[in-house]
Amino acid sequence: MSQYWSKIVHQLTPYVPGEQPKIDNLVKLNTNENPYGPSPKVIEALKLEAADSLRLYPDPNSDALKDAIAGAYHLNANQVFVGNGSDEVLAHVFQALLKHDQPLLFPDITYSFYPVYCGLYEIEYKLVPLTASFEIEVNDYLQPNGGIIFPNPNAPTGIPLALAKIEKLLQVNKQSVVVIDEAYVDFGTESAVSLINRYPNLLVTHTLSKARSLAGLRVGYALGNPALIEALIRVKDSFNSYPIDRFASAGAIAAIEDTAYFDKTSQQVIATREELVKNLRELGFEVLPSGANFIFAQHPNHDGAKLTAKLREKNIIVRHFKTPTRIAPYMRITIGTDAQSQLLVSALKKILAL
Ligand SMILES: *Cc1c(COP(=O)(O)O)cnc(C)c1O
Repeated sequence: MSQYWSKIVHQLTPYVPGEQPKIDNLVKLNTNENPYGPSPKVIEALKLEAADSLRLYPDPNSDALKDAIAGAYHLNANQVFVGNGSDEVLAHVFQALLKHDQPLLFPDITYSFYPVYCGLYEIEYKLVPLTASFEIEVNDYLQPNGGIIFPNPNAPTGIPLALAKIEKLLQVNKQSVVVIDEAYVDFGTESAVSLINRYPNLLVTHTLSKARSLAGLRVGYALGNPALIEALIRVKDSFNSYPIDRFASAGAIAAIEDTAYFDKTSQQVIATREELVKNLRELGFEVLPSGANFIFAQHPNHDGAKLTAKLREKNIIVRHFKTPTRIAPYMRITIGTDAQSQLLVSALKKILAL
């Protein structure tokens, strides 16, 4: 009965996440989850949290979690904002910091949630094309804007942007906020967190969903100047005063503190990625350089959509984007375990031989 809807709801084009099929024995390489489970210390912390205290509301300010994050990055707690996954953090960022008279700028090929938030908050935006080699060219962002946002490494290409280029952009674009979405930064890309104390217009967002193996727990955070963080808190406290539940807080703190486990699993994902890239190139694939836990690959003689469908017949799922047409030849493949990589490569060998 859509006549009851608010007017804007008719105009929304919601984000479509990668599918989560309920099929056994699937080689699931479509949503950039970590193939390794969370640190055993996270599981311990969650068990301890299953207690009588659940009848009480959680800390509305998430002080313990903010302290753990601030400690890990040598920042102050007032430079940290936390939310239910970085998607929620980003939602608040769009509303609190990116709605201005000039358009928001982001790449034409990037995380497809950005235009969705613009629709929800009625933010005007302008797409800045990636170069022919699918790279972000910071000089293309030197134009009137109400804010700039892109992931580093970019998604779904995986290509990292050098920190020196981000710093150059911050220097020349002092009039608006530059948001660097570092969802995948821990897989071999340089982080912009080191620039936060020097650039009051820099905001960096992180998630525990990828490198910390906690997509199911929903925790993300933003790091930046206290004035930017205050804007986010104002929006959050006008929306949901208790965003981080007791489990999410306890699990996230344990994950952030177990740096040894985090280093080991991230390094393993990087090693598996390098081996997979080599094997795919031997099969004739063109693979873009990746600083993420996924790769973007295409075969000059085989259609990306068809390859994706044929892999699926073999119970292997990867992600394919029909639009923009420039990326339609590609498949985005999440890095799994070595065993999953081997299954993928042998399936592709059979498909290509047909
Ligand atoms: C996965 C992802 C996020 C969101 O992660 P959450 O699970 O909501 O924390 C944000 N940005 C990019 C580019 C992502 O790929």
